[in-house]
Amino acid sequence: MINRKRKELYPVTVIENNLIKEDVHYLKLDKKFSFKPGQVLAIALKQNDEPRLYSIASGIDKDYLGILFDVNPDGQLTPTMSQLKSGDQLYISEPFGKFLCEGTPAMWIATGTGIAPFVSLAESNKANNITLIHGARTIDAFYLQDTFIKILGENYNRFCTSEQQEGIYHGRLTTYLQQQKQLPTDYKYYLCGNSQMIIDVREILIEKGVPFDHIIAEIYF
Ligand SMILES: Cc1cc2nc3c(=O)[nH]c(=O)nc-3n(C[C@H](O)[C@H](O)[C@H](O)COP(=O)(O)OP(=O)(O)OC[C@H]3O[C@@H](n4cnc5c(N)ncnc54)[C@H](O)[C@@H]3O)c2cc1C
Repeated sequence: MINRKRKELYPVTVIENNLIKEDVHYLKLDKKFSFKPGQVLAIALKQNDEPRLYSIASGIDKDYLGILFDVNPDGQLTPTMSQLKSGDQLYISEPFGKFLCEGTPAMWIATGTGIAPFVSLAESNKANNITLIHGARTIDAFYLQDTFIKILGENYNRFCTSEQQEGIYHGRLTTYLQQQKQLPTDYKYYLCGNSQMIIDVREILIEKGVPFDHIIAEIYF
């Protein structure tokens, strides 16, 4: 029998719920726990609900826990979570997880809300020797990009598939990676986002000679 030990959940108060774009929110929760950048929380509306996992998307010195999430219209948690207001309550686990991205030099690669752990890392001063590759379909989907423009400057590379703007590559990040004659094989590659992006990027990196154990992924499912 599989022993899936259920994580204990604790009440936490919502400080703010900010709409970033349609169906994408940035939630600030009371900082109930300290954590390591890259870790996740299990979140539920009620103490006995089956929780969903969310990366913490804020720096360790902020006085709140930030969560970046998109709304799944048929989901059990996010349609209601998107309606929460200041003073409302949620349930969270203690932070856990091993996607700590401690190896450098490194390339961080993210799509969609998969940018969340990298926000936490960057805001926690863990972005030295980092290049970030960030993919999105539309320009307004580079969530929290101001943080990376400020902290990473030229090492922040955005790839947009359906819109064009100066300073942003037009096309898929996988095409860009594929087109590179060489990719550094001594770098660590930290990938976060949906499973298809991770499968595609992993395949390209391995083709380019990056050792398997230099590719570390957090898959959102
Ligand atoms: C480690 C990790 C970190 C993550 N971090 C983030 C993050 O920072 N931000 C983020 O946005 N997402 C993140 N995710 C993804 C997020 O946890 C999931 O997308 C989560 O399922 C969303 O919850 P929900 O209530 O919206 O949808 P859910 O209720 O989980 O539903 C998801 C889908 O499954 C379907 N479904 C639900 N119940 C059933 C059922 N009984 N039978 C058939 N189909 C069903 C729904 O129709 C829906 O399409 C993370 C995932 C992991 C694993």
